[in-house]
Amino acid sequence: MSKSPPQITVNPCPNCQGHHTFPLRIRRSPVMSLSGEANQPGPRKFTLLCTCPKTGQTFQTELTVTPPPSERIVSVEPDPAEEEDES
Ligand SMILES: [Zn+2]
Repeated sequence: MSKSPPQITVNPCPNCQGHHTFPLRIRRSPVMSLSGEANQPGPRKFTLLCTCPKTGQTFQTELTVTPPPSERIVSVEPDPAEEEDES
């Protein structure tokens, strides 16, 4: 069960032209499709605000996420620091 954590690669960075990888925090909610209500299946585009680790400048990038049919993507945002906020 080694599911790699979600992340986004920015290359080139609009600030420093470098190559960055940001971990992502994705909030999902399950879809209760009892009555076959097809709730926004397919890819969804999110705009992420990332911070360049070299210059400290923020920039926007776009990411398209395709959720599985049983899930809905509520939000996607970069998770800049791997804080130890959960054990
Ligand atoms: Zn950068």
